[in-house]
Formats: sequence, C-alpha cells, structure tokens
Amino acid sequence: MYLPKFFIERPESSEEAATLLKVQGGSHLMAGGTELFPRMKYGLCSPEIIVSLKGSKVLEPRITAGGTLMLDPKMSLTAVTTSPEIHEKVPLLTMAAGRVATREIRNMGTLGGNLCQETRCLYFNQKHTFQFREPCFKRGGGICYFIPKGNKCWAVFMSDLAPALFCLDASASIVESGGVRQIEIDELYTHDPLKPISLNQDEIITKIMIPNKEGPSGSGFAKFTMRGGIEFAGVNVAVNLAAEDDLTTCKKARITVGAVSEGPQRALEVEVFLEGKNLSDDVLNTASQKISQSLKIVPHHGYSKGYLAECLKIQTKTALTDARKAIIGTTGEK
Ligand SMILES: Cc1cc2nc3c(=O)[nH]c(=O)nc-3n(C[C@H](O)[C@H](O)[C@H](O)COP(=O)(O)OP(=O)(O)OC[C@H]3O[C@@H](n4cnc5c(N)ncnc54)[C@H](O)[C@@H]3O)c2cc1C
Ligand code: SF4
Repeated sequence: MYLPKFFIERPESSEEAATLLKVQGGSHLMAGGTELFPRMKYGLCSPEIIVSLKGSKVLEPRITAGGTLMLDPKMSLTAVTTSPEIHEKVPLLTMAAGRVATREIRNMGTLGGNLCQETRCLYFNQKHTFQFREPCFKRGGGICYFIPKGNKCWAVFMSDLAPALFCLDASASIVESGGVRQIEIDELYTHDPLKPISLNQDEIITKIMIPNKEGPSGSGFAKFTMRGGIEFAGVNVAVNLAAEDDLTTCKKARITVGAVSEGPQRALEVEVFLEGKNLSDDVLNTASQKISQSLKIVPHHGYSKGYLAECLKIQTKTALTDARKAIIGTTGEK
C-alpha cells in the first residue's frame, strides 16, 4: 500500500501551523504520523497538504510554582515513559504510555496524536476495496457492516492515554488561528463515533496541564488484549485514588474506562461508591463487580459485549489493587 501524494509544510510554531491549517483548504495536521499515515494508505483521508508539527521545538515537561505539570503534546510516547518528572508526579501516565503499541511506534507517536486518534472498527481500518461495494456511515455512506440492522456507526475510541488523563483531572490549551482557549480533557471528546474529537480543523493542542495532587494517592492502569502483543485494547481502565492520612480510607476516586465506546467513560457510580470507604479486598471486589453496570459497552474487534464486561471487571480489580498498593508505598509511590 502506498501513501497518496501530498505537500508538506513544516511551520516553526503552533500559531503558524494553525494559520496554515485555516488558510489552506484540504490540509491536515500531523505530529508523528503513526495514526494518520495508515489512514491515508487505507484511503480513509487524503489531505493534499500536511501541516507537520515536526518543525517546532518540543518542550521538556515542566512543573510550575503551583505544582502543575505542563506537558508538550508533541513529546513522543517514549519521552512520556522515560520522563522523571512524569514518573514522579503522575506515574499513571507513565504506565499508560508504556502499554501503547511497540517501542518503534512510541518513538514516533506523540501524546497529542494519541489523544486525537480516530475511532476504530474492523470494517473501517482497511482498504475500502478489500471487501465493500457501498461505503459505510464512517466513510460517508448509509450502511453499517458491523451491525447492519442499526442506523448508526459503532466505532470505538481506543486511546490508552486519554483515560489516564481523565483520572488526573487534566486540561488542555488549544491554539487556533484566532487565539487560544482552554478546555477540560473530557471536553476534547464528542462521543460521536463519526467525529470523536471536538477540535476544529485549524485547532491544535499546545499544552496538557495536570494539577498538583495533595496527600497520599496511588494509581493503576490495566489493559486487556487478546494476545498481549502489539495490540489496541479490548478494554482499558485507569484508576487514581486519593487516600486519607490513614492510607486506607478512600478520599477521592477517579476511574475511567476506555476502548469500549466512542470515548473514555468515567465510572461515576463506582467512584462515589468508593469514596469514604476503607479500601479492603471486599470493597475493591464489589467496586469491580459494579463497574460494567453503569457503562456503555460496545462489542468490537471480535469481542462480545458480555465478554468485554467480564474482562472489564478483572481489569478494574487489577487497577484498583495496584492503586491501593501504591498508596501504602509498596511500589514507592506516595
Ligand atoms: C500498529 C499500531 C498500534 C497501536 N497501538 C496502540 C495502542 O495500543 N494504544 C493506543 O493508545 N494507541 C495505539 N496506537 C495509536 C498510537 O497511539 C498513535 O498512532 C499515536 O499515538 C499517534 O500519535 P502521532 O503523533 O503519530 O499522531 P499522528 O498520526 O500524527 O496524528 C493522529 C491524529 O491526531 C491529530 N493530532 C496530532 N497531534 C495533535 C495536536 N497536538 N493537536 C491536535 N491534533 C493533533 C492529527 O491531526 C491526526 O488527526 C497504535 C498505532 C499503530 C500504528
Ligand atoms: S461500525 Fe462504523 S466504521 Fe464500522 S462498519 Fe459500521 S459504520 Fe462503518
């Protein structure tokens, strides 16, 4: 499979990139290209002009006087996994980034690109001519091959890093050709499988901000894949628990589930269930059993809804147990 022909622009700043995207019709932003290029090879998009972020400098992670961790979305996923600042402040992000694909893809792929990837479906992420005559909804047509009786698209959003950032209460700074705005990380997602990211074509994420955490806390990230290899998640779960000074009572819980619907989902009911409770085995078991009750689970990539619901319980227990362990310092996290 070959890439279609395109022109490439390498502006030296995000502001210049946003202006180029605005004035040049048929252009598309690119960071590492690991997600965009395969889509172009499959004919899922064909920008005439690619505006690459590779011309501008990548800033190192920085901690402000108030303790906020500032990240440049252009940093590679390898840089996320190896940054001492990230590991120290938010080990959850290190864990999630370390579970993405392979070292080669993590070397090329970026934090911003991971957050802004397209939704995926077995019937979509391949050449149109492979087996179809009529385009499906996501290709601009009027049918769905996955669930033919339905009248909608069921593609799922499979980023591993987005659920982690939800649990860390992150926010993002967005540059557009007309200025700058800030959004909470959950505002980045539309939960529409046809257009999962809320950004306009000329908008670029230029900063990810993660607020300081106070008091003891611990996190866990668990991901189910069939083969345990270079695979997108069947389901992933990120957990961040803040504890009272006794290190056993849950003060605040954040649990976010990814890869089973059009966008990351906070498990709000389970978060409320955990808050104020002693983090005993029984409580973690009950929380894990409750998790799939209140969430939308879409079957995908050969996994049935029931199977994913069971996997989700197991992964939640793993992530919660790791988070509890981290609180009491077994893994060195405080
Ligand atoms: C074989 C393979 C396996 C993979 N496995 C996993 C996995 O297990 N888990 C997982 O989470 N992901 C996985 N991925 C996806 C991977 O995370 C992404 O390919 C990578 O993170 C995308 O980063 P990139 O810089 O290459 O994005 P690009 O391909 O450059 O861009 C992807 C999209 O994001 C947009 N974008 C990029 N940066 C910004 C920005 N700063 N602001 C706004 N929009 C932006 C682009 O316009 C484009 O639409 C896999 C990909 C491959 C090819
Ligand atoms: S789920 Fe969406 S992408 Fe997959 S075949 Fe149906 S319409 Fe196409």
